[in-house]
Amino acid sequence: MLRFDIITIFPEFFRETFDYGIIRRARAAGLVEISAHDLRRWTRDKHRQVDDRPFGGGDGMILKPEPIFEAVEELTKREPSDTNYTQGVRVVLLSPQGRQFTQALAEELAACRQVVLICGRYEGVDERVSEALVTDEISIGDYVLSGGEPAALVVVDAVTRLLPGALGSETSAVHESFSEGLLDYPHYTRPPDFRGMKVPEILFSGHHAEIARWRAERALEKTKRNRPDLLERAQREDKD
Ligand code: SAM
Repeated sequence: MLRFDIITIFPEFFRETFDYGIIRRARAAGLVEISAHDLRRWTRDKHRQVDDRPFGGGDGMILKPEPIFEAVEELTKREPSDTNYTQGVRVVLLSPQGRQFTQALAEELAACRQVVLICGRYEGVDERVSEALVTDEISIGDYVLSGGEPAALVVVDAVTRLLPGALGSETSAVHESFSEGLLDYPHYTRPPDFRGMKVPEILFSGHHAEIARWRAERALEKTKRNRPDLLERAQREDKD
């Protein structure tokens, strides 16, 4: 069982998000448990303040370190004096400055027993969180979101569908985009002719080996066209 703990100032954002499709089924089957926690729970002042002005001047507000440290310590049962988490625990700060979220990283997280996701807001999060509290700083892409919540959603979704049993069939995730270094092959369903656009003949042939070869070629072609960087990386890794 993998447990996600999401730390956010907008827990309501997640109220219904995990009630659909694969994630709903994975929760019902006890493969994953997902909780969204209000960061204000770990404030101690009357106004439940989670942010403050930046030292050195500048625009906007910064999420304060104290409630975030206390939230993570309570949720992971880690003493403030500990320098490491117990095995299988990852504490992630979602940030455009993080390393890029990939299928490989999703696979790493899927092997954990607890993943804590810290959602930033405003101008970001006090740097001491990234320096001394988290195990990973993760970005979902080279653009800036208003908050970490959509990024947390992306991570929970990509990781949950990799949990054994989540997709119904153990092999379903094996041929998906990125799992084998390439994009997925093209899929077609009924009708065989839609507005003059015909499904490739080979798919009706019943020759499984030929179909597999055709799919591999199309996957390669599409990867070349849309994501040449994936092929270059695969070639570099081959050389190494
Ligand atoms: N000032 C920050 C910067 O330029 O790097 C941007 C802060 S952003 C407006 C607020 C929060 O949204 C961040 O703290 C982070 O949690 C989240 N966020 C924004 N873009 C993200 C991305 N690409 N991946 C993951 N989280 C992101």
